[in-house]
Amino acid sequence: MNNRMISGFEPQFSVEEKIVALRRCSFLKEAPLKLLAASAEISFERSFERGDFIYAKGDRADRFYVLLDGKVGHPEVQAAEEQFSIATEVQVPGQLFGYAALVQGMPKRVISARCERATKVLAIDGTKFQLLCRQYGREGYQLLQHLTSTFAAHELAVANRCGWVSIRNAQKVYDPFGRAVVALDDCSVEIRPGEFCAIVGPSGCGKSTLLNAIAGFDTLTDGIVYLDGNWINRPGRTPKPGPDRIVVFQNGALFPWATIKENLIRGPVAQHRMSPQAALARARELLAQVGLSGIEGLYPGALSSGMCRRVEIIRALLNDPRVILLDEPFRGLDALTRTVTQNALLELFDLSLKTILFITHDLEEAIYLADRVLVMTARPGQIKQTIFVNLPRPRNTALFSAPEFLTLKDEAIEAVHEEAIKAFAAGDRELA
Ligand code: ADP
Repeated sequence: MNNRMISGFEPQFSVEEKIVALRRCSFLKEAPLKLLAASAEISFERSFERGDFIYAKGDRADRFYVLLDGKVGHPEVQAAEEQFSIATEVQVPGQLFGYAALVQGMPKRVISARCERATKVLAIDGTKFQLLCRQYGREGYQLLQHLTSTFAAHELAVANRCGWVSIRNAQKVYDPFGRAVVALDDCSVEIRPGEFCAIVGPSGCGKSTLLNAIAGFDTLTDGIVYLDGNWINRPGRTPKPGPDRIVVFQNGALFPWATIKENLIRGPVAQHRMSPQAALARARELLAQVGLSGIEGLYPGALSSGMCRRVEIIRALLNDPRVILLDEPFRGLDALTRTVTQNALLELFDLSLKTILFITHDLEEAIYLADRVLVMTARPGQIKQTIFVNLPRPRNTALFSAPEFLTLKDEAIEAVHEEAIKAFAAGDRELA
């Protein structure tokens, strides 16, 4: 084993945290939970400093790695004279590397994998993992196939995981020829695939305008919005709403005349992505995940608003969009229901890893849920400040009193308050 391998502190992830981390890895995403748990048991966490080699030249790889955080520059794998270079840096949590060297019967070795910044990985012993998979019959065999046979394409697929939203220099002027209201001006945001991004800011600063531009509900006066590199909104062209983006609103949008089951399975069945049986089975699984087993036959009117919100989020997931856009979805829920619903969203996010853009005026909620909180300026809206929420997942309500949480909250309060005062002075009387 590489003697430069262990450096810095070695924090211990719980098994649950490791499962969440492993699920980010696309080849394990569909793996049975038991196998994930067993993989988590045999995995161990490693931290590296900038410049450390995870594999050094000549090392024979006997394990593979799942990136938790950090950046590894172009891990390379050599087989006899033939050289493979995994063409992409490893920097998306869940990216896998080192496994090509585990392909049986092919004497590959990893020749380098250098950390470009402080990096954390989960390491899994290749032989143990193979033994584990063999206990799972066909499913385990398929996982191994996936792991070993499609490495380059697979690696790229993780790196290019869909749901990348790129907003470049967006401007929105309402009523440009009358009493012009400049809602957004030169507003740029990048949201990474699988990221949970929250947007906060004073009332009227342009949050919903931004969300509507991404959803394709309204035009921009300048700038462009891209989804996975393709434009979805640009001036002078009809915006492109589509099933790849689903919006969950505060007021809910379940069909009141249809049962929960019908509400949930309608999308995937109509899109011919799932049979009614498969869609129902998946819906039941997700409902159980958020404590709503057995409500399939009820109508929305029989549910509380907190339950409806959870059902709507599940419906959004079943439609398998690239991005879920939530505009103050929990506004108006009482405090207890709100926490339950936030936790449901967190659990579903951990399982699905969809890109989420979440608008809220509640700063605690933003920090509790998101990977990154973007604070917008008073109108015209731009991104004033980014707050990185490096708090571990899965999260629970104990976080609310953690010192790191409180520090982030103070930072957010200060940033938003400053903008709220500007908005107030400018005449937008309603504060966030
Ligand atoms: P937020 O979601 O941050 O509260 P909005 O995006 O809803 O802010 O609105 C930004 C600004 O644009 C506000 O001043 C609002 O009054 C104005 N605005 C929003 N929609 C329209 C519209 N359809 N016509 C004119 N002004 C609008």
